[in-house]
Amino acid sequence: MPSFVSHLECSRCGRRYGHLEVHNLCACGGPLLVEYDLDAIGRTVRREELSGRVASMWRYRELLPVEDLARIVTLGEGLTPMLRMERLGLWVKDDGLNPTGTFKARGASAGMTAAVERGVREVALPTAGNAGAAWAAYGAAAGIAVHVAMPRDAPEVAGKECLAHGADLTLVEGLIGDAAALVAEGVRERGWFDAGTLREPYRIEGKKTLGLEIAEQLGWDLPDAIVYPAGGGVGIIGIWRGLEQLAALGWIEGPLPRLVVVQAEGCAPIVKAFHDGREESEPWPDPHTIAPGLCVPKALGDFLVLRAVRETGGTCVAVGDDEIRGAMRDLASAGVLACPEGAATLAAVTRLRRRGDLPPDDRIVLVNTGTGLAYPDLL
Ligand SMILES: *Cc1c(COP(=O)(O)O)cnc(C)c1O
Repeated sequence: MPSFVSHLECSRCGRRYGHLEVHNLCACGGPLLVEYDLDAIGRTVRREELSGRVASMWRYRELLPVEDLARIVTLGEGLTPMLRMERLGLWVKDDGLNPTGTFKARGASAGMTAAVERGVREVALPTAGNAGAAWAAYGAAAGIAVHVAMPRDAPEVAGKECLAHGADLTLVEGLIGDAAALVAEGVRERGWFDAGTLREPYRIEGKKTLGLEIAEQLGWDLPDAIVYPAGGGVGIIGIWRGLEQLAALGWIEGPLPRLVVVQAEGCAPIVKAFHDGREESEPWPDPHTIAPGLCVPKALGDFLVLRAVRETGGTCVAVGDDEIRGAMRDLASAGVLACPEGAATLAAVTRLRRRGDLPPDDRIVLVNTGTGLAYPDLL
């Protein structure tokens, strides 16, 4: 079965590329996005068929970039629980139950599958921690060498995971941008494939399945709002694109959920750009937060995140580290051991409800992007 991918398209200038060759960014510097022949998908599969399929994100294989199903690199990622939390009055999509403990597994599964199919032998990526651990695991599963660069003060367990999976790990003084500079050098001088956030087109396709699952698990009856902790913003761009594809297929109806982006007060470039009415963010000076996944001072896809929020009538909120700690405690008290990034979404909802910006009877889904087990110091 060849894929239903039609081509890659630049999210800035619209230039098209073939999807069977290896590509990173567009010549103009814009991220490339994967486009599908949705008419053909609509003729091939009905949403009712999905329930009988594999219990992983690959149940949506027609909407994923895979040419040969035998080459899928999978560790069982996705189809994580959608938990109804009665006391909190919302749902939690608990992506802490993924392989490697975070939703980065979705991106790594799709990205590594695409790399294998295009004959890539060595990949490299900068990371705040979790993406490195995930790509290391999927590289080990695929037999592909993985080079990871992460800040020295990233969570220690993430580095240990990389080493356990046999990846080549470099700890870097500074932030994720400094790690990116090191990866760029390896790409230039040693021919590594750059698998950094949005620098290759396929990670986002894996993260897109979060949106597909939220729709399927709620019986194709969408919530009013989806609340997401954004660093690079890939997850929220993916959810938005996934829902738009479901709408184009006629699998969901009505307006899309409002997409709500949460960042930390110590690093909130997208929140600031949103409230300033800008289309792109400015690099955040001196970023700091207890939620490492949110410590991204300037995201390559910021303009897409802002578009997703504005087009769905959503909003952007920054929360403080103390609010994040409090929300971790509240979620733990309700049975869910969330990562600080995931807990930030509950802190945001608490704020928005208090301000009257989220009606109490709205149907809300929080995305918990990872397990709290990886953050023993915060626990
Ligand atoms: C990477 C990460 C995020 C941010 O994800 P983006 O898609 O880059 O916005 C949030 N939470 C956790 C746990 C992460 O690892």
